[in-house]
Amino acid sequence: MVDSVSDKLSESADIRADHLTIMKVALPVPVRSLFDYSLPSALPVPRPGCRVRVGFGSRVLTGLVIDISDSTSLDMKKLKFVEEILDSEPLLQPRHLEFLSWVADYYLHPPGDVYFSALPKFLRAGKSLKATETPYWRISDAGNEVFLQGPGRAPVQHRLLEIFSEKQQALGPESLKLASSNWRAAIAALEKKGLVERVENNLSAEEGAALPALKATKDQQQAIDSITASLVKFNCFLLFGITGSGKTEVYLQCISDVLANKRQALVLVPEISLTPQLVGRFRERFKVVIDVLHSGMSDRQRMQAWNRARLGVSSILIGTRSAVFVPLARPGIIILDEEHDASFKQQDGFRYHARDVAIKRASMEAIPVVMGSATPSLESWHNAKQGKFKLLTLEQRATAGGLPDIYLLDLEKQPIESGISIPLREGVRKCCKQGEQSLLFINRRGFAPAVCCKECNALIQCSRCDARMTWHQKQGRLVCHHCGKTNRWPECCPDCGGDEMVTIGQGTENIHQAIQQMVPDASIERIDRDTTRLKGELEERLQRAQSGEAEVLVGTQMLSKGHDFPNLKLVGILDSDQLLFSSDFRANERLFQLITQVAGRAGRADKRGMALLQTRFPDSPWMQVIAKHDYREFAEMALQERKLAEYPPFTHIALLRAEALEQSEAMKFLEQMYKQAKDLIATNPQMKPVSLSEPIPSAMEKRAGRYRAQLLVQASTRSPLHAFLNHWRSTIESARQSRKVRWSLDVDPIDLY
Ligand code: ADP
Ligand code: ZN
Repeated sequence: MVDSVSDKLSESADIRADHLTIMKVALPVPVRSLFDYSLPSALPVPRPGCRVRVGFGSRVLTGLVIDISDSTSLDMKKLKFVEEILDSEPLLQPRHLEFLSWVADYYLHPPGDVYFSALPKFLRAGKSLKATETPYWRISDAGNEVFLQGPGRAPVQHRLLEIFSEKQQALGPESLKLASSNWRAAIAALEKKGLVERVENNLSAEEGAALPALKATKDQQQAIDSITASLVKFNCFLLFGITGSGKTEVYLQCISDVLANKRQALVLVPEISLTPQLVGRFRERFKVVIDVLHSGMSDRQRMQAWNRARLGVSSILIGTRSAVFVPLARPGIIILDEEHDASFKQQDGFRYHARDVAIKRASMEAIPVVMGSATPSLESWHNAKQGKFKLLTLEQRATAGGLPDIYLLDLEKQPIESGISIPLREGVRKCCKQGEQSLLFINRRGFAPAVCCKECNALIQCSRCDARMTWHQKQGRLVCHHCGKTNRWPECCPDCGGDEMVTIGQGTENIHQAIQQMVPDASIERIDRDTTRLKGELEERLQRAQSGEAEVLVGTQMLSKGHDFPNLKLVGILDSDQLLFSSDFRANERLFQLITQVAGRAGRADKRGMALLQTRFPDSPWMQVIAKHDYREFAEMALQERKLAEYPPFTHIALLRAEALEQSEAMKFLEQMYKQAKDLIATNPQMKPVSLSEPIPSAMEKRAGRYRAQLLVQASTRSPLHAFLNHWRSTIESARQSRKVRWSLDVDPIDLY
């Protein structure tokens, strides 16, 4: 643990030395240390994991006690007192604190931020655990009787009893406030008379019979057996199964064993709003308390779900990446579905990767972690090849109908109209005629990705970014997808004054319009960020897509994830070529993942599907391997490339990013840090394996009005890199220049932008 320091100290601690107890407190401030406070003798000694209120500068902050000690490296007389203890019982157990401390160390991130990421917002704000619980009431037998006697002199009370008697279940404020704005007084009166009872924990297991497990296929059974044979020790399993091979069934059957052992399951998924079916399958299978954590919940709901997991009231917690930090009373297994998904990496602030954090957590808890994917990340695949992860494979689809055939359509040889080639157009028409569904995938929203002058070919650029602006027809605005800036349609070219501006290329809006003209009778559903902004809109659109009511789907990668479209026959992939030439070292991997996932939507149930992939480069080995559905061959090629380029998983990397309002500032800062780094390595033999790349401006240098630059650090082994980063980060933190820029240090970045 790093040395503790304290902020500007004013009060003096006038206490007897024998009573002096030093609290090492984590505070939500951007400093890489804990803070020392002394405990007044009048207060009981709180256990680690309890919150306290302390003064910090001129503010009062809520902090978390991490450790208790009888010494401090600071002047004891100058230490501030703990002002108040907020919890009588720890919110987090010692093992969880230890796990979080490891995470803070690993990512070289201020510990306060890391510890606080394990607490819901309510508790971070210092509210009491009790006060945030929503009360629930249930009608008592006596209450039922009184209700039957008819209304007396208290109409509101009677109205409440009526609601209870109608619903016959525990009800909370949302339902009760409908009766009267005065419901609180009425319910208190009813409770006092014993006509209603307060229910401690409203959430009970769902009613009804659980669906039985499916009969596992041979491959599934093998996977289930391997995992369940090792439920009480740490093990990493990579469940590699093509789309539709029944990975979810494997999770469900393993969880069934975990629940039988009275342990809890933590299930991490990329985006819950995009996978409502997955949650549904869990609820059908298990009649236990299942909580889901997602961004659409209120703070209070999140806090309750958090507390139920912590107390062991819930048996299954399904959540997105941050759920990896939620404390569990009896952890039994961690599952990461679609482990390759980029959303597991937090890209700002505390930049952690939920997969790597989950693996560490499982190892500290001595439980298995299961990572499932049809297109594993190359890191995980490499780990499986090296024997660090145990590879479990599902080779076939669980139900009839194999993977869709993927055909490459050479755009150089095909007549094309509004981005759609003739064979694809005819394919969509044929599907519509036969009552089958088709899907057109284009990973660009809006109408056109560029607007250009017919005279001089100049493109309309965002004034705040090094990027073109996208034309959104419906909105009637040009929009920058990087900073959100919008503009009107340009009357004339800003460069040459020419007065004819035209759109270039296609986005979802444009494809929607084009396909509607080609197949006028078809009902078309467009699904992208623009059409799903309003609450409930995504669910509605997905519902029409799943039911088959929508005959043609047009959308972005929102359509690629985990959906089951039972009637989907044909997938058209309009333009993925830009990923072939991206400067990002993960572009090939993304291309393979994206196309496999999108194409994999076609032909579930008993139908064989088909995917048409439009490309200008049908001979590219990457396109060839994609068309063959050959992940193994793809991984060989891609790993070979990574090895030559010395990128992960063959090296470990970290990226120092900086941005500033002035073009030269970010680069100047990085150049200074580069020099410091070189000196550091030269004087520390153990850091010798670390290599530095010279600072460079970022691929998109200007973004949202700031100029950005970056500096890459690499090493073939972890420990010299970590030793170096630890020192270097301290140097950066104390450097005067670092105050002039915004900087961040990303350990294991997933892209180099
Ligand atoms: P994945 O998660 O690998 O994409 P799913 O678990 O969604 O695959 O399974 C695809 C389909 O196959 C689902 O409709 C599921 O109900 C069905 N399925 C999975 N396992 C079996 C099985 N053993 N027997 C019959 N159907 C199965
Ligand atoms: Zn912009």
